[in-house]
Amino acid sequence: MKKRILIIGGGFGGITTMHALKKQLGHKAEVVLIDYRDNTLNKPRLPDVALKGETVEHARFLMRNAVKHDGYLLIQETVIKIDPKEKKVYLEEGGIEHYDYLVLAPGVQKHYSGIEGFREYGFSVCDDVQAPRLWRKLQTFKGGPVFIGSMPYKSGNRVNAPKLLAPCEGPVGEVMFMLKEILVKKGIGDSSPVTAFSPAKVFFEDVGDKVRNSVGEIMKKEGIGLITEKTVKKLDAENIYFTDGTSEKCALPIILPEYKPYDFIVDSGLGDEAGFVPTDNQMRHLDFPHIFAVGDATSLSVPKLGHIAVIQGEIAAKTIANELGFKADIPKFEPAILCIMERANMQATMIYSNVLYGGKLDETINGPIAFGMKWSFDFYYNFTRGHMPPEFAEKLLVNHLNNKAKS
Ligand SMILES: Cc1cc2nc3c(=O)[nH]c(=O)nc-3n(C[C@H](O)[C@H](O)[C@H](O)COP(=O)(O)OP(=O)(O)OC[C@H]3O[C@@H](n4cnc5c(N)ncnc54)[C@H](O)[C@@H]3O)c2cc1C
Repeated sequence: MKKRILIIGGGFGGITTMHALKKQLGHKAEVVLIDYRDNTLNKPRLPDVALKGETVEHARFLMRNAVKHDGYLLIQETVIKIDPKEKKVYLEEGGIEHYDYLVLAPGVQKHYSGIEGFREYGFSVCDDVQAPRLWRKLQTFKGGPVFIGSMPYKSGNRVNAPKLLAPCEGPVGEVMFMLKEILVKKGIGDSSPVTAFSPAKVFFEDVGDKVRNSVGEIMKKEGIGLITEKTVKKLDAENIYFTDGTSEKCALPIILPEYKPYDFIVDSGLGDEAGFVPTDNQMRHLDFPHIFAVGDATSLSVPKLGHIAVIQGEIAAKTIANELGFKADIPKFEPAILCIMERANMQATMIYSNVLYGGKLDETINGPIAFGMKWSFDFYYNFTRGHMPPEFAEKLLVNHLNNKAKS
């Protein structure tokens, strides 16, 4: 009988796992994707929705098309519980799905309600509700101080992942650069100073000095301020309050909220002390050998990046394929930070750094080439329904960056 593989979540991690299983196993296993959404959201495109007024359709594709193309099954439902001993997944509408292998890829909840006053006064770019809401706010924004930053990340201790205080600061960087230009164009640049804040001692703590200094120089040139070791406590109509007792006048707070693991992971006993799923380097759950996990939901994904979710998805699929007797070379888990931050006038900054994981590469590419890379990635990802550009593209990029580092 065919083995049954369930994947929960059709974002970067889940879709990559599904496509990789298709490549490794074809139809020799029954693969089922479960997601309550009917579309995959490409979150790195949300700043275009929030700041350029693109429609949310621009940032998503129909999940059913991706699943159908692979010849697998989509169940559009919410998972509420998992029984790892009985190998069962419980759905909100009452259904129960059995699995031989389970891949958890649900991402994380964005805990907006953890910030007092966020609902009334706060804004964000993290999902397809918040991004258009920020765009609407910008249409009537009359100017005043703007603060952009993220809430701290609370990690567990079961896996050996880097300890960071910010879950992912790339979106903060991209939004501050894009927003600065918009405010200038609206004629309110002078009355709307933009300041980034970070819960960590340094902004962009996940990269090395070279990349950090390069981002810092652009911030200086653009006149963007920075305050560090700041965690937001509360917002009101005119101020942003931090947990250290300080506050600042603020007309527009834009915040990446706390990344909180989903209740169904925690309630099913699958999380670590902080609720993230602990796995080994082949993405296998430390306690349940038939459960794998990839993406933001895992303890190993630090910082929380689509690029890391994709690396994990490939590894999980190949590990499962091997176990089912289909030989696959399982890549080593060698994460890297890859993030492209768009700026004004078709400029962007691409950062590639692996120093956080003991590597030596810490490089940026600035200018229209980086903008072109972002545009091509987005186009390729949406057009191919969640496939990554061919492997050689990243190899070429890394080679180029290695040469750049030597010169
Ligand atoms: C504005 C912004 C810009 C970013 N830019 C970059 C970048 O440049 N580079 C980069 O590498 N990363 C970037 N990221 C981070 C990246 O988007 C995330 O790391 C990535 O989306 C995580 O993928 P995932 O598959 O783990 O989770 P997600 O993409 O969040 O997908 C999870 C899926 O699971 C589903 N799900 C959740 N709970 C359930 C449930 N109970 N039942 C059924 N389905 C469920 C959800 O509906 C969703 O479809 C950015 C993020 C943001 C917000």
